[in-house]
Amino acid sequence: MRADLHVHSTASDGTDPPAEVMRRAARAGLDVVALTDHDTVAGHAEARAAAGPVALLPGMELSCRLDGRSLHMLAYLFDADQPELAAELARIRDDRVLRARAMVDKLAGLGVDVSWGQVAAIAGQAVVGRPHIARAMADSGAIASPREAFTRDWIADGGRAYVGRYALDPVRAIDLVRAAGGVTVLAHPRAGRDTWVTNEQITRLAAAGLAGLEVFHPDQSEAERARLIALAHDLALVPTGGSDDHGSLTGYRLGGETTSAEAYQDLLSRVPRPA
Ligand SMILES: [Zn+2]
Ligand SMILES: [Zn+2]
Repeated sequence: MRADLHVHSTASDGTDPPAEVMRRAARAGLDVVALTDHDTVAGHAEARAAAGPVALLPGMELSCRLDGRSLHMLAYLFDADQPELAAELARIRDDRVLRARAMVDKLAGLGVDVSWGQVAAIAGQAVVGRPHIARAMADSGAIASPREAFTRDWIADGGRAYVGRYALDPVRAIDLVRAAGGVTVLAHPRAGRDTWVTNEQITRLAAAGLAGLEVFHPDQSEAERARLIALAHDLALVPTGGSDDHGSLTGYRLGGETTSAEAYQDLLSRVPRPA
């Protein structure tokens, strides 16, 4: 059995629509594919409707923050309509706009002549973000080029007009997903410096009810995989794998990393029983 438990579509930052992801999963010879878009389940309906030989495992990848650093949490088989979880997801989505507006307000307070209307017009249909604010700043003449916005003086991380993203505490994410009938897997804990999760932190998350650890991920070295397998064994976590495919953005790698049949069954067995 071949199961790729980490895949993105156009519902977040992937380049292929969910139906195309399902077709590619079939061509890759997968039996199971998990659609795990960032902070949304918007792609599930289309993926489900694209009936084919591959089973869809509904999921998402939650943006979390632990000890001041970004962390990604994969979640599977939860009820996205569960009120508390749905409210958190709405909060994360709304935050994208609130955050951009707050940065515009801070810039105005610093004497920069930019308005929310300008920024929104520049963003158009895209999810509004710092690049759009930077362009508005350049248009206003406050800076010579958008690039100059990304300094400590302006909207770089920690800058005078910077506003951080809202992100979930991972222990709360574990609780929310559990309460919604699902299971959580810590995504790519050793994929890079930006999202490095320590053994001590993983131990804490395991104690909080984490079900699995993503071991087989394209950005994790053989040495780190070996360490994570040992850690998963010690903490009784399920070692999972996924390609983290984003379509053309990541060079079409769907099915390149997989979860073993044994691990997949173990993960399913950890879905909480209704009380
Ligand atoms: Zn991630
Ligand atoms: Zn991902």
